[in-house]
Amino acid sequence: MTVRKEAAVPVIAQADVLVVESTFSGCVAAAEVARQGRKVALVSSSTSLPRELVVALRPWVREADLKALPEALAALFEACVKERTADGERILHAGKLAEAFEDMLLDAGVQILYDLRPCGALIDGHRAAGAVFAGKAGLVAVGARAVVDCTPDARLAALAGARLADRPAPSGIQVGYSMLCAAQPPASELHLDEPANLVDGKVLVHGPFAEFRIRLALSPDATFRDAELTLKTRLAVAQIGQALRESRAWAGAGFVRGGDALLVAPTRRIAARPHGQEIELAACQPEGVEALLVCSPAIDVDDAAAAALADPFASTAIARLVAAADWTTLCADAPRPEDARVVLTTQPRQDMEAGIEARFGHEEPIRSTLAELPLGQPALPLVAECDVLVVGGGTSGLPAALVAAQNGAKTLLIEKHADLGGTHTIGGVSKYWFGRTTDFVRRLDRSALSTASQSGMPKCVAMLYPAVLSGAGVLPQCLAVGALAEADRVRGAVVVTPTGLAAIRAKIVVDATGDGDVAVRAGAEASWGTTRDAMTLWFSFGHFKGTRPEASRHYHSVVDLRDAIDFSRAIIASRRRNGVFGRGDFPQYYLTPRESRHVHGRATVTYADILSGRRYPDTVTVCRSNFDIKGLAASDLALCGYTELEFRRNYSAPIPLRALLPERLDHILVVGKAYSITHDALSLARMQRDLMALGGAAGLAAALAARDGKPPADVDVADLQQRLVRIGILTPADLAHPPDDEPDLPALVRQWAEGRLPLTGQVAVLARGERAVPLLRDALAKAAPQGKPALARALCFLGNRDGVPVLLDELRRQLAADPLPRSPQKAHQAPDHGYAPEPAFLINAIGIARDPRVIPLLAPLATRIRMNPRRSDDTFHYVFAIAYAAERIADPAALPALEILADKPAIGGAILPPGTDPRKTADVVPGRLAYLELCVARAMARCGSPRGYRRLIDALGAPRGFIARSARIELIDLAATDCGPDPRKWTAWLAEAPTPLPPKPFTRRIE
Ligand SMILES: Cc1cc2nc3c(=O)[nH]c(=O)nc-3n(C[C@H](O)[C@H](O)[C@H](O)COP(=O)(O)OP(=O)(O)OC[C@H]3O[C@@H](n4cnc5c(N)ncnc54)[C@H](O)[C@@H]3O)c2cc1C
Repeated sequence: MTVRKEAAVPVIAQADVLVVESTFSGCVAAAEVARQGRKVALVSSSTSLPRELVVALRPWVREADLKALPEALAALFEACVKERTADGERILHAGKLAEAFEDMLLDAGVQILYDLRPCGALIDGHRAAGAVFAGKAGLVAVGARAVVDCTPDARLAALAGARLADRPAPSGIQVGYSMLCAAQPPASELHLDEPANLVDGKVLVHGPFAEFRIRLALSPDATFRDAELTLKTRLAVAQIGQALRESRAWAGAGFVRGGDALLVAPTRRIAARPHGQEIELAACQPEGVEALLVCSPAIDVDDAAAAALADPFASTAIARLVAAADWTTLCADAPRPEDARVVLTTQPRQDMEAGIEARFGHEEPIRSTLAELPLGQPALPLVAECDVLVVGGGTSGLPAALVAAQNGAKTLLIEKHADLGGTHTIGGVSKYWFGRTTDFVRRLDRSALSTASQSGMPKCVAMLYPAVLSGAGVLPQCLAVGALAEADRVRGAVVVTPTGLAAIRAKIVVDATGDGDVAVRAGAEASWGTTRDAMTLWFSFGHFKGTRPEASRHYHSVVDLRDAIDFSRAIIASRRRNGVFGRGDFPQYYLTPRESRHVHGRATVTYADILSGRRYPDTVTVCRSNFDIKGLAASDLALCGYTELEFRRNYSAPIPLRALLPERLDHILVVGKAYSITHDALSLARMQRDLMALGGAAGLAAALAARDGKPPADVDVADLQQRLVRIGILTPADLAHPPDDEPDLPALVRQWAEGRLPLTGQVAVLARGERAVPLLRDALAKAAPQGKPALARALCFLGNRDGVPVLLDELRRQLAADPLPRSPQKAHQAPDHGYAPEPAFLINAIGIARDPRVIPLLAPLATRIRMNPRRSDDTFHYVFAIAYAAERIADPAALPALEILADKPAIGGAILPPGTDPRKTADVVPGRLAYLELCVARAMARCGSPRGYRRLIDALGAPRGFIARSARIELIDLAATDCGPDPRKWTAWLAEAPTPLPPKPFTRRIE
């Protein structure tokens, strides 16, 4: 196997000391070393910390443990105590604990990077020089002068070349897993005779938590150790749950959620330099690797000592040793990151067919990277083969795997997290919102719910049963970070295993990551969010409250999954916000954006398609919901007022098979919210029931394609559709519709002039483009006065200026009102749902026609806009509209209006400077104001203002990733060149640019 020459890993941070994994001892060591003046980066494989107490959901502490802690740390814990049990345990508030640990680290100056799994080492000679991590942003590296490996099994040390031995476990490995109970258990210990692998036959109770200690026999091959432990533990716990329900111990046993990590008894031991019997620093230093310390029970101590150190509180003894190391010597003679070699696997090579490449294509990083390390030719072992590989076990992925397996395909489902269900379960969106209730969806729900009611398990665990019973292989805790491909054919995925990267080969891949991760790594074209800039629907990371299965929802801001630094910022910011049910008690593990990439397919579903009722010959499912735009409506149609004002009105959206097939790649289907659809259309066609059906349809298409040895594009569509009817995804009525009929355009325009044409008809007319213009002009000339503005707006939308005078009169009339007109519908906070005041729609429409006659109205309007810095209200739309029109007209005469906006205290300076503490981005209103500042700046630049360019250049370092990336996108478009992420290079470019700067209208249409 070969890796493309251009493949490289960006170094996103450089530290004196890199701490790998956010265990309790890792956090303590990181804070302590940072307080000594070292620049420390702490990389966590999860989205919370500390790992054992919060991620593994073990939030309890004994009095004696607290007493043994240093005073400040004990005080931190005391401040997080929620309740005390009768036997003297303190039960901690997990949400507060995560926030307090984060505060401790950030206050000490530690850079926290979340959700990155170590998968490679940076090595310079025999010296550790950092680590390579895999995450949603792909492969990234962090360079360092010294590294502290806090992974329980010394994973990084092994990758760096340290020798490790297995600790003997003749009777199996002991694993600890805890769950929040739905109701208080009846006793502090629950006794059971079965199953035999429950250690001592006891379930231990800590306040509302049940702790299960299970002994598991594991296969000798460690490649999928994480997956195996996770799967076997959950299946064992479900058995225990069932046994509890059937016993007198606790017949009402029910569990709400468990941790995303397990506490596993020590399994490995490094070979350290010679040292004594005591636990001393030398025991942490693996022989043969310089500048690397291990800080976990994998240090070179005997098994009894290691077992004692596996207790999170006892493990701080190692942290203290590590913190007291001689960091001056350890950090001396540090290599430059660009001199380091990347080591990605410790497994023996097993060759793939010639021509198959591992691809890790990552999008251009937003911020300056410190170096790009070539990947060279890593020999990735081939660790599994299947017919259909489903990547992502969430809303769409689990049904895809079930259907593929039920249709005879040898299927493998890999999932990044420990549990299945994705957004619906671990994402905390447990309630359906519209979507079609098909037989298929009903069946899926029934199968998971019957296991849930037998075992008392939450749905995310219960969902394992249908998957396992279907015959599909399931690999939880397995992240895909790359693709295998041969020319345009996708051949599988590259995954992260405990022993480094590995390859899984498949005949067909179903990318159900929700973000098109595998497709884009393989080279598919994709756009992001609105396509105008880096704006998406708002994300939510609201955390769980009490025993509710639903997370406390946020209508937060935008997170850029492509940027590991922004992703971490978003987590830190979200933790400090109240959601709709207030502040969460339990951190969520899964940050679920409502929208990210749209992989460009062979057909793309648009907002206009849905509104105008477009149908397809290759429909594979039909979505049905309202337009639920949690964020900015971005299509020109919606921004000109073609929006449904009745919030709950449902529309049907047929989805063609071609929308799941990337334009130029074969043997891959993209499902979940990353299929080929535009931003405004996705606001409707993304609900859970509908994406479950979409996954099922893809699973069936994949199984048929694998069976016949064809790409999915070549499956017999009619046969596929009939099968989809049989499994209850489509109905015969979905297929009975004739293909698109040409509408009777003149009749529609007549109805419009008479004010009788519904929104769907209006959009059907507009969808005809130029052909509708003569009819609309004619109708405008003849229409009664009250009918004219609608026709004039339609003409403007189509780029014709004949209606502009009518619209200007209407705009003047509406703007004469005091106060300014409000939007006709309420939203959470502007700009949600595209509900804007009518004058904003009119300004936008004239902007599309690029008619400068609107300019004299803009400055007086800008002056009248009074912004509330604490609330994003209708003023958002007025500011946005002025910028929207100005950037299209691009006339320097519009600059005074833009300057007035740029000088408003709420807007000017809303974009935060580089290096701002991520905690300061918690509030959503300043985030929306920052976006407005960006919109105003880019409109100024389009009108030829150097001030606009300068503000965009400043914004390149903005802590909110979507602002930084949007600024970069705009500068590249304006300059027709890319000076990279470094603001200094752009400043130099601006200094050389011709003066006056020529106006550059924004002319692209947004669908
Ligand atoms: C905050 C929020 C609120 C919503 N509210 C509602 C609502 O009320 N009702 C409703 O019906 N819909 C709602 N939606 C929409 C709906 O929930 C989502 O559109 C849908 O669940 C997305 O499904 P998916 O399959 O794309 O992603 P997911 O269900 O998130 O599944 C993706 C899975 O892939 C895994 N994964 C991701 N990347 C990788 C990788 N590289 N390797 C391996 N595994 C990976 C993830 O861990 C996850 O399990 C909401 C969405 C959000 C985010």
